[in-house]
Amino acid sequence: MFYVRFWGVRGSLPIPGPSTVKIGGNTPCIEVRAGSEILIFDAGSGIRNLGLRLMKEMPLVARMFFTHFHWDHIQGFPFFGPAFIKGNRFDLFGARKLSSTLADTLSGQMNFPNFPVSLEEMAAQMNFHDLHEGEAVACGDAVITNAELNHPGRCFAYRVDFGGHAIVIASDTEHYSCIDAKLVALADGADVLIYDSMYTPEEYAGTNGASPKTGWGHSTWKEGVKVAKAANVRQLVLYHHDPDHDDEQVLRIESEAKKLFPESIAAYEGQVISIA
Ligand SMILES: [Zn+2]
Ligand SMILES: [Zn+2]
Repeated sequence: MFYVRFWGVRGSLPIPGPSTVKIGGNTPCIEVRAGSEILIFDAGSGIRNLGLRLMKEMPLVARMFFTHFHWDHIQGFPFFGPAFIKGNRFDLFGARKLSSTLADTLSGQMNFPNFPVSLEEMAAQMNFHDLHEGEAVACGDAVITNAELNHPGRCFAYRVDFGGHAIVIASDTEHYSCIDAKLVALADGADVLIYDSMYTPEEYAGTNGASPKTGWGHSTWKEGVKVAKAANVRQLVLYHHDPDHDDEQVLRIESEAKKLFPESIAAYEGQVISIA
């Protein structure tokens, strides 16, 4: 069993409402199952619903990987129910930083007066691990590797290898004029590449009449196609949708991407992609 399930696919902030019911409004959270291993990538607001589902599988042993610590990727953590329950165990991984550890960052958002409960009051066992770039983590028969992306404050892409198949999660990143060789190497031959497709090429360049989004740390579906082709990836998943894009816009972007790379899909909440 090797599959990915999306619990939050939206960048920047949650946007519930009638215009986003198809794609979903929760911020990033991805569940990967690799055999008996439970792997969680990011703790945006989508992790609340994942927590409700996981309550049925307790006691839990799970690994949680953070791409980075912008608020949209950690804001759901204080609402992750299983973390409050004694007997559950989580290993949490994030990029080593010069200024703060992963534990400091997660507890910081729960400090008084931001939140009524502190991280220390969460009863599950939590083991924090600060990762170096390129460091591999073995989880059962799965191996998780990383590479640094182009995003303010340090951000990791992760690759999960299991049973001869691979999933790569690349959120958030900005492309440059030449293709990101590090990301292409990480994604080489992967079954699925999940890629930061926040902007259209027109929004990114400012040719839609609005101010350009260059330097904002995000990419486009078209750059995702370039990476997918260069890395010989089987399927491209457009992810981290802009909060200004309603369902119609996301689906239009998906159909544009399919013209250049037929195996493209826009991630939506609740979507499951089975690899093996
Ligand atoms: Zn983000
Ligand atoms: Zn970010």
